[in-house]
Amino acid sequence: MTVDPSALSFDSLAVHAGQAADATTGAVIPPVHFSTTFVQDGIGGLRGGWEYGRSGNPTRTALQEQLAALEGGRHALSFASGLAAEDALLRAALKPGDDVLLGNDVYGGTYRLLARVLGPWGVGLRIVDMSDLDHVRAAVAEKAPTILWVETPSNPLLRVTDIAGLAQLGHDAGSLVVVDNTFASPALQRPLAHGADVVVHSTTKYLGGHSDVVGGALVLDDDALAEKTTFLQFAAGAVSGPMDAWLTTRGIKTLALRMQRHSENGLALAEFLDADDRVAHVYYPGLPAHPGHDIARRQMTGFGGIVSVALEDAESARRFAESLRVFQLAESLGGVESLVNYPDAMTHASVRGTELAVPAEVVRLSVGIEDVDDLRADLDQALSAL
Ligand SMILES: *Cc1c(COP(=O)(O)O)cnc(C)c1O
Repeated sequence: MTVDPSALSFDSLAVHAGQAADATTGAVIPPVHFSTTFVQDGIGGLRGGWEYGRSGNPTRTALQEQLAALEGGRHALSFASGLAAEDALLRAALKPGDDVLLGNDVYGGTYRLLARVLGPWGVGLRIVDMSDLDHVRAAVAEKAPTILWVETPSNPLLRVTDIAGLAQLGHDAGSLVVVDNTFASPALQRPLAHGADVVVHSTTKYLGGHSDVVGGALVLDDDALAEKTTFLQFAAGAVSGPMDAWLTTRGIKTLALRMQRHSENGLALAEFLDADDRVAHVYYPGLPAHPGHDIARRQMTGFGGIVSVALEDAESARRFAESLRVFQLAESLGGVESLVNYPDAMTHASVRGTELAVPAEVVRLSVGIEDVDDLRADLDQALSAL
């Protein structure tokens, strides 16, 4: 007997989608297929369509089925990194002379790719605060963009954008609406259900979840765009390798559990920091005073594990980040272990002096799944060091 994934709910899909037991041996965990090539029964006689590892690999296909099921999309494509996924999508959807409208608080690498790689190829770029739909409306009226690109919650200031409102606005203008769902993961937010056209992931973060594999993905419904991006995945070749795909699949099986704990710890620590006068401001959509709190409650099922704080000045922010012990000072986020990042000089150094620059007093915490008391004590000792 095999499970029919269409009958399952999210937490079960995370475990079972794309993961049918091996037909030959009954192995409960499907084998990792390292083979780069597949025997043909006569010229062109492919077994199950498998031919060559760049065009298709069973371990990557299993991950793609898992990702499509979790985001509720018809197609998913897995890449060697989040930026490789973004690059394939952008090149599939844009041509010289087209224009991208980008949120003003997105991952620095997304901005760098658009401004410094695609810009010289003739792609226009405009930046707007996506969480303010009036600003977006005005920018769209000025010139309809080919792509509207948003991250919600955003990195690192946790701005929240109303995905359904943005999708409506974008579709009225004929734009493709792309949501980078890396911060929430499909366990907390499914943008396609709110009207987005494409979901982008750095699977390096929560989906992989253990800080041991770099990867990226696209999930979408439209068959024609899926065909174009699949062609670029094959023709440019930034695919995920079999071991990377398998590690990501393994991480995803515990996604629902991890996101629950990340969200519980995130909320507890955001409340703790918010009540402390040594902290100037806490950015966390789970706090009722957060400007996007009501929208986040509507479109998310938890507020996630990223909490950013503003200290009094840049000096205090640096000292705070360097005084934490359980939170390790490192780039990236979304793993089981807690990390602290100083955006201005680390993850967002590439957007210094641009419209995306992060205030120098801001520190970003990626709250892990450790015991919340240990994390709270660590924050307390680092604040005492100021
Ligand atoms: C890390 C990240 C990316 C880029 O992904 P890589 O896997 O590092 O290439 C894109 N978007 C967001 C929100 C990220 O955090």
